[in-house]
Amino acid sequence: TCAIEPHATVSDTCASYATLDALNDEVRPILTSITQDTDFFSYYRLNLFNKICPFWQDETSLCGNIACAVNTIDSQEDLPPIWRIEELGKLEGPHAGHPGRRQQQERPKQKPLQGGLGEDVGESCVVEYDDECDERDYCVPEDEGAAAKGDYVSLVDNPERFTGYAGLGAHQVWDAIYRENCFVKPSSSPSSQLAPLQGLQVQAANNFRSVLHKELPQLDDECLEKRVFHRIISGMHASISTHLCWEYLNQTTDEWGPNVQCYKDRLHKHPERISNLYFNYALVARAVAKLQKHLQHYNFCSFDPDQDLETKNKVLALTEQLHNRPQIFDEAVMFQDEHSIELKEDFRNRFRNVSRLMDCVGCDKCRLWGKLQVNGYGTALKVLFEYDETKNGENPLLRRTELVALVNTLARISKSIAAVRRFREAVQAGNDQI
Ligand code: FAD
Repeated sequence: TCAIEPHATVSDTCASYATLDALNDEVRPILTSITQDTDFFSYYRLNLFNKICPFWQDETSLCGNIACAVNTIDSQEDLPPIWRIEELGKLEGPHAGHPGRRQQQERPKQKPLQGGLGEDVGESCVVEYDDECDERDYCVPEDEGAAAKGDYVSLVDNPERFTGYAGLGAHQVWDAIYRENCFVKPSSSPSSQLAPLQGLQVQAANNFRSVLHKELPQLDDECLEKRVFHRIISGMHASISTHLCWEYLNQTTDEWGPNVQCYKDRLHKHPERISNLYFNYALVARAVAKLQKHLQHYNFCSFDPDQDLETKNKVLALTEQLHNRPQIFDEAVMFQDEHSIELKEDFRNRFRNVSRLMDCVGCDKCRLWGKLQVNGYGTALKVLFEYDETKNGENPLLRRTELVALVNTLARISKSIAAVRRFREAVQAGNDQI
């Protein structure tokens, strides 16, 4: 209901749906151009294949409960080949290559990248500090523990869309992510590191069904921080659902396109999910706006000065558009009470666990976008709670992967909001097609 009424306010933010829709209409073109047309923002470097799920093992699970018996392959075989994760979820394009090589091969008209982006030369200036972990991070840095620097993946060649990844494997990941919302009481231990493997398996077995269906626990008596944590996760989930409904594969025609029924089932019937999507938009947009000053001195270093300047101008235009308007999200109201230090530590640890859980996602493309978006939200939280807009040089480092993830995450939510509007109009007009 409230999600369908454009003048309703998105609780916990300072904005209404109509305000956020209007803002989105304004910034969407520049956001699309940044994420689709610039090398800096259209390649993401991450460790997609080398990490193992630290919480459970798919095939050799010690847990006897059906909930732990993740076997997506069996059910996959019942599907026509085109629907199988291996086909739909696989990565396209030269994902292991670096931008320079791709440019030389596929974009001959543009100046090739030169200098430090080659395998033998090491990373360029923008990523040289990627391995450092800062205690103020809300995410596990993508390069954590890996000798290799990870693969470059083209985000343009690998759009987030329907992959067929579903069933117990996907549910187990979502379930574990939502379970991170069980905050400790401030008086007890602030440490919330999940016990890897066995501990979580047992928990997963016991809680699997009950937690999944208890979508939004009683929020009235919850602190703001806990509610915000839940809203971020649910909003991210809603965005992923929107993308897969918007670019769905019609099995009969083999065509990709919006699936209104998918939207009805996953979003329209659950207005709080749409509300959480808008909430995330306000939160991430505020984080990007807050970087306005910081990014004025940021080095968009891809060794093509013309493109670097173009990229920088686009990014500054975006931050200016977001900054020069009434504030849509007020982070200053969070972590204010006497337990705020413990609570913040707990919040950060839980978000890091969500980040690690992404290595348990059993579909390459879903893992790519899952990792990117968790990093994007983690970066947004870091900027909101650890950055002082008025300072220069004293704020935590902003890694290239963090900035790329942040801006692409905003672009994801932006696309979801635009898609939800189209879906909503179709439902209101009684159309089951767009
Ligand atoms: P699910 O979406 O799996 O949801 C499980 C349960 O969570 C629901 O029954 C409901 O109780 C609850 N729930 C659902 N949505 C919300 C919400 N917004 N807020 C709160 N609770 C909610 N599939 C793709 O096709 N493409 C992708 O790119 C993709 N990326 C994924 C990334 C990650 C990190 C994960 C874990 C899964 C991804 N999937 C992707 C799978 C997809 O999210 C679903 O799990 C799958 O489509 C099965 O959907 P479902 O209807 O069973 O419910």
